[in-house]
Amino acid sequence: MTDISGRIARRQERIHVAIGPTCNNNCLFCMEEDRASREVVNGAMTPDRVRAILEARRGAEEVCFTSGEPTLVAELPRYANWSKKLGYRRISVMTNGRRLAHLAYAEHLAASGVNCFYVSIHGHTAKLHTAAVREPEAFEQTVQGIRNIAALKQAAPSARPSLTLHTSTVVTTRNLAHMQEIYAFLRGLGVDQCVLNVMQANGRAHTHFEQLFPSYTEIARTFKGFLDACGEPQPQAFLVDIPLCTTTAIPDFHRGYVEKYVHYEPKGFQEIELLTPEAPDHAPELVAVTRADLDHARRQKRPECKACRYDTACEGVWTNYLTRRGWAEFGPVA
Ligand code: SF4
Repeated sequence: MTDISGRIARRQERIHVAIGPTCNNNCLFCMEEDRASREVVNGAMTPDRVRAILEARRGAEEVCFTSGEPTLVAELPRYANWSKKLGYRRISVMTNGRRLAHLAYAEHLAASGVNCFYVSIHGHTAKLHTAAVREPEAFEQTVQGIRNIAALKQAAPSARPSLTLHTSTVVTTRNLAHMQEIYAFLRGLGVDQCVLNVMQANGRAHTHFEQLFPSYTEIARTFKGFLDACGEPQPQAFLVDIPLCTTTAIPDFHRGYVEKYVHYEPKGFQEIELLTPEAPDHAPELVAVTRADLDHARRQKRPECKACRYDTACEGVWTNYLTRRGWAEFGPVA
């Protein structure tokens, strides 16, 4: 495997299709703080528009159904099936996993074409997870959902050779000290890869920053300590969305990165400047919003970054983080 800069440079494009007007969790750090806007924007994603996006972007490495809670959208299996027929190789869903607790539904999604599940879970105990998502039944359902996908993998590995199960755990001041327990718990459930996502300092994570956001340095140090003590020869744990200059002590294999993604929204709702606005052929009322648009509007670098070996790969530091904590913990890597 090449180093982190090489992997970032070779990232394939992932299409995000934002279909969920609502969510049945209420996460303390949710980036989608404006629920009313999300309901309008994602609610506008009609089957015709989804079809137009899928057709416009066929050939992309991955299509991911996300935003709000996509499993609450009745058409999700149909969208997965279209994606399969259009030739998308990786068809994923980013979910809180609660609906996957119904085995028949989980099976239906997999049979329709979903072959990668990214399930969000923020603790190894009901107490820790519930404190993050603020829904009392969520932990039990999410854990059962993970178990069900793991069981589908086990039951027919030859029929579904590419079914993968990843989890996403948002690192906060509350679960930081429990990385080892969370990792052991998730691997014990049958999870292939455990991603530890550092918060983006936007939305509710910006609102609750002081209570929730550990420093990058603290997160990197704790993650390194967890790896050293883990006991597995190569833990399947990855730390994602943290400036690379704070993670130089972490072996490269475990340094993850945020995908290069694009999603579409109805025109007129964008609060940020779009670098290259573009619409799908059959849905001119939509506009593409890319990862680069978000980074350009909300992250920063400073002149010293030009001397950093990661300058090309690095997307910069969230402005909302720098406003509170400044540049002290970041420095160019020779
Ligand atoms: S470019 Fe700047 S922020 Fe990015 S890793 Fe290097 S020093 Fe850190």
